[in-house]
Amino acid sequence: MVDADQTFVIVGGGLAGAKAAETLRAEGFTGRVILISDERDHPYERPPLSKGYLLGKEERDSVFVHEPAWYAQNDIELHLGQTVDRIDRAAKTVRFGDDGTLVRYDKLLLATGAEPRRLDIPGTDLAGVHHLRRLAHAERLKGVLQHLGRDNGHIVIAGAGWIGLEIAAAAREYGAEVTVIEPAPTPLHGVLGPELGNVFAELHREHGVRFHFGRRLTEIVGQDGMVLAARTDDGEEHPAHDVLAAIGAAPRVALAEAAGLELADRARGGGVAVDERLRTSDPDIYAAGDVASFPLGLFGTRLRVEHWANALNGGPAAARAMLGQDVGYDRVPYFFTDQYDLGMEYSGWAPPGSYDEVVIRGDAGKREFIAFWVKEGRVLAGMNVNVWDVTEQIQRLIRAAVPVDPEALADPHVPLDSLA
Ligand SMILES: Cc1cc2nc3c(=O)[nH]c(=O)nc-3n(C[C@H](O)[C@H](O)[C@H](O)COP(=O)(O)OP(=O)(O)OC[C@H]3O[C@@H](n4cnc5c(N)ncnc54)[C@H](O)[C@@H]3O)c2cc1C
Repeated sequence: MVDADQTFVIVGGGLAGAKAAETLRAEGFTGRVILISDERDHPYERPPLSKGYLLGKEERDSVFVHEPAWYAQNDIELHLGQTVDRIDRAAKTVRFGDDGTLVRYDKLLLATGAEPRRLDIPGTDLAGVHHLRRLAHAERLKGVLQHLGRDNGHIVIAGAGWIGLEIAAAAREYGAEVTVIEPAPTPLHGVLGPELGNVFAELHREHGVRFHFGRRLTEIVGQDGMVLAARTDDGEEHPAHDVLAAIGAAPRVALAEAAGLELADRARGGGVAVDERLRTSDPDIYAAGDVASFPLGLFGTRLRVEHWANALNGGPAAARAMLGQDVGYDRVPYFFTDQYDLGMEYSGWAPPGSYDEVVIRGDAGKREFIAFWVKEGRVLAGMNVNVWDVTEQIQRLIRAAVPVDPEALADPHVPLDSLA
């Protein structure tokens, strides 16, 4: 049993950090819980920032993980606008960057998340170049899109990943002209492969988005501090009033690295290496959410998962492990997106090269189907598009890891439950 006079410190006030704090109290921990975030806002959820909140359909208040009063009510010592700039593992302290205050910990959770990658080309310092990670970014981008929509303005989006595509959809809903530049041959290529990436390309084309695949941005052309155009590596200039860089995120590992904690291989997504209990190479330090790279036995690999559900479940799992409970974190990776009238959920992990075929159940043309990525008959991943309440069955099939008859898999009349 953990002593009541212990102090558990959580660095990072995103979803993983806030849910870990909640779980510590829910599990009866009566010691000090200190939650530190370098953001000025209370912990919030990021998915609405590129969807409902960006579109003005969800209120600002709806994005927060807890009501502001919840922290004091639950005796969580919340420090906002405070960056932790050092961990001293020998003394078991973390240091506030502002004034050098030292905070002692018995157990420490790193939930420092990720930050957007920056374009490394001329012109990125122009006023009309944007990123989207924080609430403040979303507030600003909302204003930009409203303005572009009113004036028939152009936005160029670098990157056809989830965030780039969601912002493309939002920008079109505001009425802005949208051009997306993507080095890969299809959107979401690294996750969905070419077959299903094209479903998203078609969806966006139907809504008036222009794509340039196989191209990279080389310069953002400006005048008097304003964006005029975005140039690609074929020399073409694309008119732009604003540019959004959506070229992925990098895990915030600087603290862990400086403290000498083991990091995961960068080629496999990097991050802080943790074991199946989300414990780092220091037994008193844990990591969860976007920053953590954990072993996923089901796929025989180590993965860093940059998705909402992993923060939602990983934070609590780490909290339980910090309390000494027997935790095994082996969730099937899961994420969702909403773009125009398409809603989808994806479970599993099947990057290009890892599967033999994609089996479709339903009508891909109508965008109402489930896609399964299959290797040697075994389902590695499944994506339901405008089909609902099937995630549990899909995840069961993935976990079963047994060969499935492809014809039955493709047949909507065969219940998914009967296949695993
Ligand atoms: C715009 C957007 C849309 C998204 N949409 C979806 C979606 O539709 N579906 C989905 O599955 N996922 C989505 N995601 C991903 C999902 O939001 C993330 O996986 C999730 O936010 C990760 O939570 P986290 O707590 O690990 O990290 P974060 O949310 O990044 O939180 C980490 C916090 O720690 C703070 N911090 C970092 N270092 C320090 C330090 N040294 N000192 C103090 N504080 C520090 C950071 O500023 C941040 O506040 C989206 C992400 C974004 C940005």
